[in-house]
Amino acid sequence: MTTLQSYVLGRWHTGTGAPTPLHDPHTEAQVAEVRSGGIEFAAVVRHAREHGVPALQKRSFAERGALLKALSGALHEKREELITVSVQNGGTTRGDAKFDIDGATGTLMAYAELASKLPPKPYLVDGEGLQLGRTARFWGQHVWTSRPGVAVHVNAFNFPAWGMLEKMACAFVAGVPVIEKPGTPTALLAWRIAQLIVEKELLPQGAYQFVAGSTGDLLDHLGPMDALAFTGSSGTGAKLKATPNLVKQNVRVNIEADSLNAAVLAPDVEAGGPTYNAFLANVVLDLTQKTGQKCTAVRRILVPRERVAEVAADLKAELARIQVGDPSASTTRMGPVASRAQGDDVRKGIERLQTVAQTITGGTQKLFERGFYVAPTLLVAKDGDAAIVHSDEVFGPCSTIVPYSGDALEAARIVQKGAGGLVSSCYSNDDAWVEAYVLAAAPWTGRIWIGNDKSVEQALAPGMALPWMLHGGPGRAGGGEELGGVRGVQFYMQRTALQGFKGLLEARFGVPQPAAAT
Ligand code: NAP
Repeated sequence: MTTLQSYVLGRWHTGTGAPTPLHDPHTEAQVAEVRSGGIEFAAVVRHAREHGVPALQKRSFAERGALLKALSGALHEKREELITVSVQNGGTTRGDAKFDIDGATGTLMAYAELASKLPPKPYLVDGEGLQLGRTARFWGQHVWTSRPGVAVHVNAFNFPAWGMLEKMACAFVAGVPVIEKPGTPTALLAWRIAQLIVEKELLPQGAYQFVAGSTGDLLDHLGPMDALAFTGSSGTGAKLKATPNLVKQNVRVNIEADSLNAAVLAPDVEAGGPTYNAFLANVVLDLTQKTGQKCTAVRRILVPRERVAEVAADLKAELARIQVGDPSASTTRMGPVASRAQGDDVRKGIERLQTVAQTITGGTQKLFERGFYVAPTLLVAKDGDAAIVHSDEVFGPCSTIVPYSGDALEAARIVQKGAGGLVSSCYSNDDAWVEAYVLAAAPWTGRIWIGNDKSVEQALAPGMALPWMLHGGPGRAGGGEELGGVRGVQFYMQRTALQGFKGLLEARFGVPQPAAAT
């Protein structure tokens, strides 16, 4: 039996205490175990601060970017092996495994590229400077510097590779060492990646530590220069954010939580056109990719009332084509969910939705003799205002059609019922409709994806988080922001307002020279 170890204080540590089993979601066989005890977390935090911080921060942005590039290359070399591990412990199809692993190495490369273009100085300039004195002699300028702390990253089970490495990329560009904790049910892939990172010896001492299992009292040892970036359910996020030590020390916290993402079909979109076809394809992709276990997957499909029957029939026909089964088979389009607990949760969620919605396809029936399988499930809400539809994130292959009038402002009002989301996609060729929807929905939504006939052919799927664009959302989605190019790096840096003699600020802090300087 493989026992996952933690990598702390520069060595591998075998945990103590009761084991937590990890399973193959297709066969239900146990594939590994995790034991959490025996780590002295105060020493782990000290190790990162004392060794990782100076080792990373003596390097320039570009040199830290070069570390990411090397890491991306080293992991990409092991892509086939990592795909196999993902299929084995995540129940992912090969395509879904690639989505996670290539997303991870691609994000490392994107941040390597970004870092290579940052200035050869240990700080970043923030915005334009401005005159504060009677003349421009007394000047103001904001700058970002790296915080001499450690970043604790608590990751969700659904993206063991991408989730860990996207956070790490941002922290490393900022010069901040990391302590990574994967979601336990699928930790085998994260652990194998940790092994490769350590084996390759690409990172300086203290820059990377990896905790398999529980974080114990880790958060109690964080201080004012440290950060916690969490991805997972809103319940766990709220609990961690309220950790007394984090509150007391004002530890920077970023929460990426769950979201009732919505796809909105506007009334002008004609059946059979490019926008309508993209709408169907994207909804089906979100329902089935990673077996619906994507934080950005669409949970609510807003459809003009008079078109509900047509859209439900079209989506049902598309879903009937999805082959569900053994994730290692090349013909399989959707595998099982990641764990027994996840399967039970999803089935309970579908049962709750069925109290207010009609099942069009799928449901809670057992699909195979073994394995954590759930059928792709599409429902239509009988009452578009029913609270469950807007509050219960069923984290699996399940989505609900919500009838609405076709009015853009009503669509935004319904989307708001999710209390803050990661992404909403809207499909329309009517620019005025889009403008009204976007302006009303934007405060409640981290990202709005807009599909029309002119762009859908080139558009990336709305469920995809991109390194150059912000990922996160208000309210229930956690209130956090990650990625977004340099914005994701700045979470690990401190913005300081400098006020002083303009000549000094220009000479020492790279403030651009305005034309009218005196
Ligand atoms: P979860 O149960 O909230 O767990 C998330 C992480 O928190 C796991 O690593 C878990 O460790 C850890 N954790 C749980 N209790 C903890 C505690 N008391 N102290 C420290 N760590 C603790 O979520 P999940 O089931 O892994 O992930 C699914 C959820 O994540 C969904 O709701 C999904 O929407 C959300 N998600 C959001 C995003 C985003 O970017 N916004 C991305 C992906 C997923 P163990 O596994 O060891 O319990």
